[in-house]
Amino acid sequence: MAKRVKKGSALKVQKGQAITLVESANIEHRKLAQDILEICIPLSGKSVRIGITGVPGVGKSTFIEAIGQHLTALGHKVAVLAIDPSSSRNKGSILGDKTRMESLANDKNAFIRPSPSSGSLGGVAQKTRETISLCEAAGFDIILVETVGVGQSETAVHSMVDFFLLLMLAGAGDELQGIKRGIIEMCDAIFINKADGDNLNKAKSSRVQYSNALHLYPVPDSGWSPTAGICSAITNFNIDVVWDTIEQYMKHTKSNNYFLENRKRQDLVRLHEQIDMKLKARFYNNTEMKKAIADAEAKISNNTASAYKLADELLDNY
Ligand code: GDP
Repeated sequence: MAKRVKKGSALKVQKGQAITLVESANIEHRKLAQDILEICIPLSGKSVRIGITGVPGVGKSTFIEAIGQHLTALGHKVAVLAIDPSSSRNKGSILGDKTRMESLANDKNAFIRPSPSSGSLGGVAQKTRETISLCEAAGFDIILVETVGVGQSETAVHSMVDFFLLLMLAGAGDELQGIKRGIIEMCDAIFINKADGDNLNKAKSSRVQYSNALHLYPVPDSGWSPTAGICSAITNFNIDVVWDTIEQYMKHTKSNNYFLENRKRQDLVRLHEQIDMKLKARFYNNTEMKKAIADAEAKISNNTASAYKLADELLDNY
């Protein structure tokens, strides 16, 4: 039996160790991780959780490196997490992410956690959420969660952050950039990256187009109308404006209480996800049920019973 963690002692567990516990499949490790997470709850209120998405090549890593350094220079502690379970880009290796964000990786006020290399999106998302709590407990007040703007992971990230930033390139339609309409609807700001050199004017006109397009969407529940801007991660142009926008958003959503309401709603979704996951796991891992399911599968193969009736019987017997 794993030793239960007492208040105070949990935070002495090294940050990296706690995250390893969260990511472990070992039941005792999971129990210990849950105890640590319980202690982390009151410590998470002061952070800002920011999701960053955009197609590969838009400049996410370069941008995170730029804004990360801007933020540590302002005295913040920044944690960078990635959620991209299907990525073969860096195969989740620490080296992969550290090479991508070399200066930030060497900043003592920044912590870069590579994306978990395997597992279902649900599993990876859960671990990322737990890692957010651990980083907050360890004193990181800004959490950047990176995702690739082409699939399901945006929805997962959106459900765990306060602010969602979409990075775009100038002069390419949404379709070309593989960005789904749903992602535009989720974002709180669009910034057109690579607004430098010959690309600056194109970026400016793209900004106007996106700004007009954003006005066509209804104002979201936050009451914040998403904005469009331009920046350059390479020259640092407007990186401070991105941060100003996030701060304005925070001020706005804290004053109308959306910030807290949204976090509560996210926690409720989490509660139900956990119940769903655990119910399923208990059912399928139950020894008697394993046998009963195998019998039911045989009946389906022999055409001797309907799937509906068998499913009802299995659940009634559980
Ligand atoms: P990611 O795949 O979205 O993480 O994109 P990266 O950060 O790896 O950047 C892809 C390429 O775009 C790299 O060659 C970067 O040097 C370049 N890049 C990123 N940001 C900028 C920028 O603001 N301006 C210019 N000109 N190039 C950039």
